[in-house]
Formats: sequence, structure tokens, C-alpha cells
Amino acid sequence: MASQSPEPKISIETPIRAPSAVPVDDAVLPFEVSSLDLRGRLTRLGPALDDVLNKHDYPPAVGKLLGEAMVLTTLLGSSLKFDGRFILQTQTDGPVSFLIVDFQAPDRLRAYARFDAKRLEQGLDSGALLGHGHLAMTIDQGPDMSRYQGLVALEGGSLEDAAHEYFLRSEQIPTRVRLAVGEEWRGGEGPKHHWRAGGMLLQFLPKAPERARQPDLHPGDAPEGIVTHAVEEDDAWIEGQSLIATVEDVELIDPDLSGERLLYRLFHERGVRVFPPLPLRAQCSCSRDAVSGMLESFAAKDRAEMVKDGKVVVTCEFCSSLYEFTPDEAGVE
Ligand SMILES: [Zn+2]
Repeated sequence: MASQSPEPKISIETPIRAPSAVPVDDAVLPFEVSSLDLRGRLTRLGPALDDVLNKHDYPPAVGKLLGEAMVLTTLLGSSLKFDGRFILQTQTDGPVSFLIVDFQAPDRLRAYARFDAKRLEQGLDSGALLGHGHLAMTIDQGPDMSRYQGLVALEGGSLEDAAHEYFLRSEQIPTRVRLAVGEEWRGGEGPKHHWRAGGMLLQFLPKAPERARQPDLHPGDAPEGIVTHAVEEDDAWIEGQSLIATVEDVELIDPDLSGERLLYRLFHERGVRVFPPLPLRAQCSCSRDAVSGMLESFAAKDRAEMVKDGKVVVTCEFCSSLYEFTPDEAGVE
């Protein structure tokens, strides 16, 4: 393989500083390890996660899974360069049959999950909670632009597995993802229970495309005795994968470990550059006008069936806000 010619030396000194010790919650921190052609993003969620999950009475296992989906969405959606939307959805046959996370660039996040409480047993991992079905990722760039949708089969694996499969099949970018969600109990004043989540995305983006070759996850159904073509991964990517594999869940969610310190811990030997963090906030985009518009789109018969005790009440599934209309306001004849 021809080696890349080295980058021209920059004569001005690159500014270097010690990693900040101040943890930043509810933000995505983009970073780059240029000596290994790696780019990545680190997400930390704290109060925004509490905001989303506490609006619903989710059992811990469901909250944890939805938290993972939220982190994955921010890792993927925060790269949008326009005021678009990134929507992650799962539709599966497991106890958690539907998940949706809606990210509106640059910073708004909302999410909810549907689950069957009777089927939630102790100790089910995220793969077992989801079951079989599919994961869809939709990029919506506005009314005049085409929507892009990527689909991945879910076959009892985790959301991390599904993300790896997606990048291998659709994007063909060598990618590793780590997701972690935990619960924290604090003493003193205020609420004692808090959710925390964190995640990391690492991608290998060399200038020479042949360096990005990856072995297939599944050898396929080649007849026995046939030697499948062995793909050797690039040394830089092997190193990147082994470094992200050392990240522990507790490091991803530790409220006292700053994102910059975690990145320094991982990549200091190679030199890591961080970019300004992108803040995130939990905010629903529902409104009385939008709900009213939705009611108008229903058939008159369906609207009439929604009248209970002389009024029409609509609940936003994302944020549990209630919108109340008189039959007249709801367009019931
Ligand atoms: Zn809402």
C-alpha cells in the first residue's frame, strides 16, 4: 500500500492546553485524533435526560434503553450541518415495542417509548427488551428537501450493534459506538434520583479510501472449504478500536470526570484536539396550534369519537402535555 505523504509542517505553534477538569453535561464534544485519522464525538447527558425520562413513569429498564437511544441519536444527529431533524425509531416485537428520539438541530431533543409492563422481566438486556424488528434513522431537511431513511434489522442485539451494522452496510465508514446509562442517588436537598448517560462515536476517516477497508461482519453462506478473502484492517484503525474498547461505562457517565479528561486519558499519547461543545436541551416542539391542526386533519367521525365528558383532550406522547378543546374548537359538528 502506498503511504500517504506527510502533511506539510505548520510553522506556527499549535495552541495546546491542559484538558479542562470541569464536566459539561447536556452537550456533545467533537474531537479529532489526526495522527490516527480518527474523528469522534462524546456525549454527556444529565439534566436533559432527567427532563425527558421523568415526564413518564418508565420502569428503570425502559428508561435506560431510551437513554441509550437518546445518546446514540445525539452522536449521529449532531453532525447535521443544517437546521434539520434526525429521527431514530425502533419498531420491534420485544417488551419495548416502539422507541422514538427526535433531534432538531442545533440542540433540541425529545423522546418516548412504548412498552408492555407485563413482559418486563428482571435482568433483560437492551437486545432482549427490543427483540426483533428494525431500527430506522430518518434525516429530514425541511419540506422542500428529500428525506433520507436508513434501515437496520434488529435481531436481538443492542443499539450499539445496530449502529455498527448501519455504518458497515450503509455508510461504509469504519465506526465504533459506545453507549452507557446509569442511575445516581444523591443526598441532601432536591431530588435524590438522577439519570446520567454518556456515549462515544469513533470513526476512521483516512484520506486514502483503501485504508478504510473492513472485514465483513458475517462471512455469508460460502460453501465449506472456501477460503474467504481476508481483509487486513489498517493499523491506525486497529489502534482506535482497541482504545475505545477500553472505555468503561462508569467513565462515560461519571459526573466528576470531564469529557476532555476522558478523551485525554484515551488518546494523550497520540494527541487529541477538541472542538467547542455543542449544547443540548430537552424541549418538545408540540403546541396548541399544532395539535389543533392535527385534529383538523382527522375525519369528522373520528373527531366526534374523541369527545369525552363534553371535551376533547389530547396528550402529547413526548412530553405528556395536555391540550383541552371544546367540541366546537375541535371542529366537532
Ligand atoms: Zn410535547
